[in-house]
Amino acid sequence: MTAVEHLPQTATLSPILKQATPVIVDHAQGSWVYGTDGQSYLDFTTGIGVTSTGHCHPRVVAAAQEQCAKVIHAQYTTVMHPPLLELTAKLGGVLPLGLDSVFYANSGSEAVEAAIRLARMATARPNIVVFQGGFHGRTVAAASLTTAGTRFSAGFSPLMGGVHMAPFPYAYRYGWDTETAVDFALTELDYLLTSRVAPDDTAAFLIEPVLGDGGYLPTPPRFLAGLRERADRHGILLILDEVQAGFGRTGRFWGHQHAPISPDILITAKGLASGFPISAIAAPTELMTKAWPGSQGGTYGGNAVAAAAAIATLDVIAEENLVDNAAIRGEQLLTGIREVTTGLDAVGDVRGLGLMIGIEFVTRVGDRCMPDAATALAVQRATTAHGLLTLTCGPAGNVVRLIPALVVTADEIALGIERFGAAVHSVLGA
Ligand code: PMP
Repeated sequence: MTAVEHLPQTATLSPILKQATPVIVDHAQGSWVYGTDGQSYLDFTTGIGVTSTGHCHPRVVAAAQEQCAKVIHAQYTTVMHPPLLELTAKLGGVLPLGLDSVFYANSGSEAVEAAIRLARMATARPNIVVFQGGFHGRTVAAASLTTAGTRFSAGFSPLMGGVHMAPFPYAYRYGWDTETAVDFALTELDYLLTSRVAPDDTAAFLIEPVLGDGGYLPTPPRFLAGLRERADRHGILLILDEVQAGFGRTGRFWGHQHAPISPDILITAKGLASGFPISAIAAPTELMTKAWPGSQGGTYGGNAVAAAAAIATLDVIAEENLVDNAAIRGEQLLTGIREVTTGLDAVGDVRGLGLMIGIEFVTRVGDRCMPDAATALAVQRATTAHGLLTLTCGPAGNVVRLIPALVVTADEIALGIERFGAAVHSVLGA
């Protein structure tokens, strides 16, 4: 093809971009999205757990606007800017004790990759153990670590090597109580570490405190404690992917704070800047220095406007008590969803932690529960028709997830429960 004659053309979005709702947002505020169609929607998706302080929180908007007028971009390996220094100091106040060094990137996937690079460089070991149903992103390396659905990694092999999957204590799926599922998963992990993946060849365990795209499954605290104990015993690093569960979402500042443990490397992104693209890893300084300059980061890492928005986000979370609000409103939401789904055979499990609530849809085959993605999708679509934005997740796509903003009010949660109830009953005809 020659470029001599360039005829006017229009471009369209790639057909592989599948939207979960038909909504085109005109503007959004707090828990509400206002479509170009003139409709308003209660937003229990928050841009997939990103706009935690609500859409366009005035403090975040002001901080970003002010920063925009000062400096938008100053590449951090060339020229430093004050927002990144201030953000880092402020993060020190919320990071687990000992994780006193921070490095910035733009997305969750990039931060996951940074954590893996660091773990491999620090230990000089190749292997990473991940847990079934984990989601860690879409770059080739992050997809290699992801086991939340074949759609995330099929078709572009070879993936990154050195990744080994161990079972996750998915009590509902196995039909067990949580303790039995934890015993099973820890036993299988020990089996993997003796049969296939030598501990002294293993750099890290990588896990989410609540499986996100894998089905909104809280990781049982005793399982995390079991990982911590094995990591310490074998000199393996424990990496916690707090991209979705961090920043107050689960009713604690970090999702792992429901367990009596602390990670060696923490990954954060989504809620960090209320919608501006920025991510980070945190680790002890001594560990962080094991990666060498040049091995981490990128052109846009630690953007000044995103950093200013992140500072405002931290202030808003503290001043408006949003972590406590997430815990209280999460309880209200979980209880309410259980009430409106009581007696529905297709609803197998309603679970969650804070404002991460999953509703698993199943069909019963004999005494077994099989994933029912068609019903989950129908319910998710019906919620939109009832003015409530929701998403699906899970390897089979049979879990509807609710991710309200941390600023959500009691009335908004009550309305969300009512709309979810109406939607689910409209689909199931009950
Ligand atoms: N880790 C987790 C736990 C996530 O939920 C996600 C995004 N859903 C990622 C990593 C990847 O983040 P990003 O899409 O920003 O690359």
